[in-house]
Amino acid sequence: MGGSNIQKELTQVVEAPHPLIKHWVSVLRDENTPSSIFRSAMAELGRLLIYEATRNWLPTIIREVQSPVGVSMAEFINPKEPILVIPILRAGLALAEHASSILPCSRTYHLGMSRDEKTLLPSIYLNKLPDKFAEGARILLIDPMLATGGTIVAAIDLLKDRGVDTTQIKVISAISSPPALQKLKTNFPGLQVYTGAVDPILNEKGYIVPGLGDAGDRSFGT
Ligand code: URA
Repeated sequence: MGGSNIQKELTQVVEAPHPLIKHWVSVLRDENTPSSIFRSAMAELGRLLIYEATRNWLPTIIREVQSPVGVSMAEFINPKEPILVIPILRAGLALAEHASSILPCSRTYHLGMSRDEKTLLPSIYLNKLPDKFAEGARILLIDPMLATGGTIVAAIDLLKDRGVDTTQIKVISAISSPPALQKLKTNFPGLQVYTGAVDPILNEKGYIVPGLGDAGDRSFGT
């Protein structure tokens, strides 16, 4: 994909080079993809990006299990260490669709944010975040389109207000733009972003070009 290498170095962006990730991004880009397929493509992309993002990041425990034919030391996800999924509504719901089935013991907190069409500034219309997060909680913040960066920065600020450190957060996005990645780098150095593609242009209406259009409208057929 066309993203800028400089932006990637600055922001710890992982544009996972898996052919399936490319495939689902391409399905999303196609304006002829109907809404139901769009939504399932977004969910599949989310599954793959979350899989990549959580490699070497999930806390495990080892205990002995008895198989039908012998004893084995077995590694499991530690159910005592919180893994939190925070989709930013609306479109984040589609990208986070499979999170709970691939992450044993995760919890989901919803955050509803919209952006003003003229000023492009974000506002919060739903906040189900707890007042405080458990110490060491691992947080996947899920927002399909990192365009101007206003929404994702405001969302991370809410987490920071609740005592969360940047190292506890990974951002999952379908498509990102250089201005958003730059803003994240400036505000939260070291933050890790997993994205399906980095596209070069942000138009005057705050849409990523070529992008995929309005991710919320296309997910829900509105
Ligand atoms: N939000 C979207 O849904 N699409 C864009 O291109 C930018 C922001």
